[in-house]
Amino acid sequence: MDHDDALLNVRDLKTYFHTLDGTAKAVDDVSFYLDKGETLAIVGESGCGKSITALSIMGLVPQPAGKIVNGQIYLNNDNLLEYPERKMQDIRGDKIAMIFQEPMTSLNPLMTVGSQISEMIQRHRGVSKKESWERSVSMLEKVQIPSPGKRARDYPHLLSGGMRQRVMIAMALSCNPQVLIADEPTTALDVTIQAQILDLMLRLKQDYNTSIIMITHDLGVVAEVAQRIIVMYAGKIIEEGNVFSIFEDPRHPYTKALLKSIPKFGNRTEHGREPLQEITGIVPNLYTLASGCSFHPRCKEAMDICKLKEIQLTDVGDGHRVRCLLCDQKGEK
Ligand code: SF4
Repeated sequence: MDHDDALLNVRDLKTYFHTLDGTAKAVDDVSFYLDKGETLAIVGESGCGKSITALSIMGLVPQPAGKIVNGQIYLNNDNLLEYPERKMQDIRGDKIAMIFQEPMTSLNPLMTVGSQISEMIQRHRGVSKKESWERSVSMLEKVQIPSPGKRARDYPHLLSGGMRQRVMIAMALSCNPQVLIADEPTTALDVTIQAQILDLMLRLKQDYNTSIIMITHDLGVVAEVAQRIIVMYAGKIIEEGNVFSIFEDPRHPYTKALLKSIPKFGNRTEHGREPLQEITGIVPNLYTLASGCSFHPRCKEAMDICKLKEIQLTDVGDGHRVRCLLCDQKGEK
């Protein structure tokens, strides 16, 4: 299905890194869509290509090594890859905004947080300095920062990690973007603050009718926030489906292993707490990827043929797609 009417449509995206070690196919033929008001989670271990997919959408692939070598990224049916950098600067922050994992590296340490939000509003909305400052204080209030007028005059280092992430959310939503990309937005935070930030993002998503791409290595997080999930491995989508089908009927051995590695409340055996299962092996080196299915060196269900054959995504019904030979026949497991 093409999903031509989706808000965001990524098609056949390939983002490669050419270095002295060779070519790393960080994003290798990735296609997906994001509907209006939807939250889509992209899940996988570090190095699977999820963040580079996000940076490709933002037009921020690290240069000169990184390059989008193929594909289209349609936002409202306009291909962003045809836009010159000047036009992408207008899109970033206005139509698509991004929240990064560690706000300290994204916020300017030499500017007050209020000025940083204010600058963004002025850049995209062309309002006066006074009005943009008032809007930035009101955004800080919306993300539940106490004494927002006073906090707006603080520099980032004066705020806690949770507060800084709230500032990033305020900045990202200040121009009411259509798409918000959140790259591991809660990973650097402790568990109680994580829950608060996720809750805040969901509430603001409803207020602003924003569509969200949530990038995370933690399947436990996405259960609460996403409608659909994409699982990536070694630059490719290996499973995609709605939250219910991924959690209740995972088909790919990697997705199954990811789900088994989530701690579950009350999981106890007669010998005490049930041990968490780990995924054996290590994240693959993109410069020396195994032939055939790139997961085969770690797969407990691997067969000889898995090393030989390029595996395609197979639709197993209801938009659930899987890249595994075990599901290659009419959706049978
Ligand atoms: Fe495992 Fe083979 Fe499926 Fe790859 S194709 S996930 S190696 S069973």
